[in-house]
Amino acid sequence: MIFNLGQSINQPIKLPQKFDVELYIKREDKIHKHISGNKYRKLKYNLQEADKLGYTTLLTFGGAFSNHIAAVAFAGQKFGFKTIGIIRGEELEDKINDNATLQFAKVNGMHFKFVSRSDYREKNSDGFLQQLQKEFGKFYCVPEGGTNALAVKGCEEILSDSDTMFDYICCAVGTGGTISGLINSAKLHQQILGFPALKGDFLSSNISKFVTRSNWKLITNFHFGGYAKINVELIEFINQFKHMQDIPLDPVYTGKLMFGVYKLIEDGFFPKRSKILVIHTGGLQGIAGMNKRLKQKKLPLIK
Ligand SMILES: *Cc1c(COP(=O)(O)O)cnc(C)c1O
Repeated sequence: MIFNLGQSINQPIKLPQKFDVELYIKREDKIHKHISGNKYRKLKYNLQEADKLGYTTLLTFGGAFSNHIAAVAFAGQKFGFKTIGIIRGEELEDKINDNATLQFAKVNGMHFKFVSRSDYREKNSDGFLQQLQKEFGKFYCVPEGGTNALAVKGCEEILSDSDTMFDYICCAVGTGGTISGLINSAKLHQQILGFPALKGDFLSSNISKFVTRSNWKLITNFHFGGYAKINVELIEFINQFKHMQDIPLDPVYTGKLMFGVYKLIEDGFFPKRSKILVIHTGGLQGIAGMNKRLKQKKLPLIK
């Protein structure tokens, strides 16, 4: 199975001159129009493994706006796997057509099973997996968010040789797979900063499972209240950033990341003339779903 992702380009970000740092963004979002760059990288070696072991079906888990669900559906379609998505929230069953993410997954052939929030919490238990096996037969199980050792291996391919010029590498953190790959492939003179998109003390220990180095740190005060929680200040930042730089950010991960990086720059966190690389991990497919929610709440939309 041939599954090769090229290197994405680093694009400079224009900053006011008073900030004496250089800021670049790696456009992993350009890997695919609908698929988060990092989710695709996380799938690469998992799909090769599934193929090698003779599996024809992938099964995974996610919420209604999950970038991972969209990525698995698309990759399955592209590389000839059947896909099954275990989706959190029974109430969504009748609302597939109102939900851009689920609709995209469905069009790409994903079969859904909707489960209650309490059942969803049991997703890693042996009993639940056995029940799924009874229902669906043999499948290759991709964990929620896609993070495992093979996913980390895929994320080790995000950085290229020329990225050794950067002093700092910044990325959004969900389950910690992406940052683990970056930590493993960065040089020891580089500092990797992770910006969690959710509240969670478990993240550091998750990351420690996959890395042995210590040149990384989590910046934990830019989650905006939790996963997929946003406010008007963040929406305005995302819209302003797009207007100024012509680069879209997503509201769940990369918007919070860039907001945090700007704040750190303003606060003088980075030494003068630091070279900073921000990883744009994608996630743009989630904007449509978020805007639907914002509209209901009569909040400004993401442009
Ligand atoms: C899933 C996701 C992340 C988080 O990646 P992890 O490997 O789970 O930490 C970051 N950005 C985007 C756009 C994502 O979809």
